[in-house]
Formats: sequence, C-alpha cells, structure tokens
Amino acid sequence: MIIKNIAIIGAGVMGQGVSYQFAKYNYNITLIDIADSALENARKNIRNIERLDKMLHKSTSNVNVLDKITFTSDLSTLSTADFIIENITENITLKETLYQKIKAHIADHALLAVNTSAVSITRLASFLKHPQNVMGIHFMNPVHLKPTVEVIKGYHTTSETIDATQELLQAVNMTGVVVNDMPGFISNRVLMLTVNEAVFALQDGVAGAADIDKIFRECFGHKMGPLETADLIGLDTILYTLHVLLSSYNDTKFRPAPLLTKMVDAGLHGRKSGEGFYKYN
Ligand code: NAD
Repeated sequence: MIIKNIAIIGAGVMGQGVSYQFAKYNYNITLIDIADSALENARKNIRNIERLDKMLHKSTSNVNVLDKITFTSDLSTLSTADFIIENITENITLKETLYQKIKAHIADHALLAVNTSAVSITRLASFLKHPQNVMGIHFMNPVHLKPTVEVIKGYHTTSETIDATQELLQAVNMTGVVVNDMPGFISNRVLMLTVNEAVFALQDGVAGAADIDKIFRECFGHKMGPLETADLIGLDTILYTLHVLLSSYNDTKFRPAPLLTKMVDAGLHGRKSGEGFYKYN
C-alpha cells in the first residue's frame, strides 16, 4: 500500500509529536484540531521540537517540517488521507462523537490508527465503515525520541492492516510491538497502577515526590520515576486514562487517587501547564 498523505486529528502534545515525526520523513501532513488556539500552539511547538532535535539529537534531516504540514479545523480534508492518526483528548464520549462525524469523510482505502492510552480499539472501530482498517498505535512521548510503540490489533483488524502499519512505522524509523486489544493494552494497564499508587503514597505522606521518584531511578534503574513520568504524560491524561480503565474493567484497583483529581481540578497538568508534581519554567 502506498501512503503519501497522512491526516492527524488532535494537535495537542501527541498530535504535535506525531506530526513532527512523519513530516520529518517527508509525508504530507494535515493536522486537524477543533481549537484554533491549539493549532497556533502546535505550529510554535513543532518548530521548537525541530530546533531541539537538530541541536540536541543531531538530526540531519533537511526537510523543513512546517512546509509539510497544513493546519486546519476542517474535517472534510480527511477524504484525501491514506492514513489517519487520531490523537484527541482521552475521553470516550469525545472520541465516540468524533468517530461518528468522521465516518463520512474517510476514503475506503484509508487506514486509521487510534492513538489512545486506554480506550478500546474495537469499540471505536465499530463506528466506522471498515473496522478491518482500524488499529491502535500507542505512541510514547516525546514521539521522535521513543521509536518503539504498541500496535494494537482490534477484533476486526486484518493482518494486511497490521503489516501496512508496521511498514509505515519502519519508514519513519520506528518499530511496533503487536498486542491484542484490551483497555490500557500492556503499557498503561501496568503503568497507570504504578503512577496512581505513587500518588496515593505521596498523599499518605509516606515520602515526598522527589524521594518517591529517586527510589525508582536509583534502586530500580528506571530513567524516570512515576511522578516525573506523570508530569511528562500530563496529569489530566493520567486521570482520564484511569477513568477509562475503571469503567472498562469495572475494577476499583483503577480508582484515581483523590490528590490526582484535586491537582487536575487546580490546573496542575504537569509539564504542559508549567506545574504538576514539580515546577517547570
Ligand atoms: P492533549 O490534551 O495535549 O491534546 C488533545 C487535543 O485534542 C487538544 O488540542 C484538543 O483541542 C483536541 N481535540 C479535542 N476534541 C477534538 C475534536 N473533536 N476534534 C479535533 N480535535 C479535538 O492530549 P494528548 O496528551 O496529546 O493526548 C492525545 C491522545 O493521545 C489521548 O488519547 C492520550 O491518551 C493519547 N496518548 C497520550 C500520551 C501522552 O504522553 N500524553 C501518550 C500516548 C498516547
């Protein structure tokens, strides 16, 4: 399958990272968001990702990524896409509403990747005409520095869809680990419990954030502790993901720590808002 045009829906943290990675490898990108302010912000942040990639990671790409990206709020532009990557807010109702709207605009040959932390791929595929063309790609953040991703096979996803997805990932220097569809897949089913329990431990006064993270970095050799990881992902996204896991498995082990909810309500969303468990300038 020849893939030239990629549409990316949702221009937040992940939409920006995914757009950068595919534009860098010369794909034509249409980046779609409902909020004009998000599109403006995305343009600024993608320029910054490119600058840092060249400066810190010695990227030698000579593609001017912003020349490859069209920024728009028009969903009808989806009709020219060979491959669509959806990265909107981690909220089942918002995602379901979007899938009902985009059904009419997607070309019959197009493949669609759901970039979600936990929502069932099978459920979202059920809103589209060709559920066999839908799979999950759980990208990691920051996208251009995390080349291994989960590729999730929904109930109807065909092996042709998985193969074409793996080929596309290889073309942008990434690799997919294929897993079956269950909420949270492997990574977030396990990670969210750890992050949430670390917040409970902080809330109980067992230790401060810096010491909790230090134990994971220095005793277990993790690159980052659970609270630093939460700040990087976004505390709002962590909270939404726990809600999705709680309602999907109906298991109280996924109930969010009250401190996490309180911080999200207070606007402390981690790095992207300037403050989470730590302060950023
Ligand atoms: P974000 O809050 O930074 O961005 C979400 C964007 O979606 C916003 O710009 C918002 O305006 C836009 N949006 C909301 N509804 C929309 C609609 N109907 N149409 C078009 N745009 C819409 O969130 P994020 O961190 O980029 O996460 C996006 C998705 O990626 C989520 O499903 C999340 O679970 C998943 N994800 C996040 C991470 C992470 O580390 N942040 C990692 C892997 C996967």
